[in-house]
Amino acid sequence: MITLQEFTIRIIKDEMESIPKKYQKPFNSMHEGLAVLREEYVELENEIFFGEKKAKEHPYTKEPGALDPKEIWKAKVRQEAVQVAAMAARIIQELTV
Ligand SMILES: [Mg+2]
Repeated sequence: MITLQEFTIRIIKDEMESIPKKYQKPFNSMHEGLAVLREEYVELENEIFFGEKKAKEHPYTKEPGALDPKEIWKAKVRQEAVQVAAMAARIIQELTV
């Protein structure tokens, strides 16, 4: 069964709680919520489309003991996906309070 894992819940919650205080108020409208979600989605899309190549070309990947560029890319994709999920969760929560 596919379900929401504790690890995933925790990183989405951490992301929401890391939002600066001045942005923690509810969205002014559904459209604002959608705009913020879309902005995060576009960042995720760019990371998925172009991030692997960028990670491979980064100078830190040439240093001895450097991390695998694929792992760096996956971590960045995960981070952007968490931001998308956090914004979607905000919309869900604001509709239910
Ligand atoms: Mg982002």
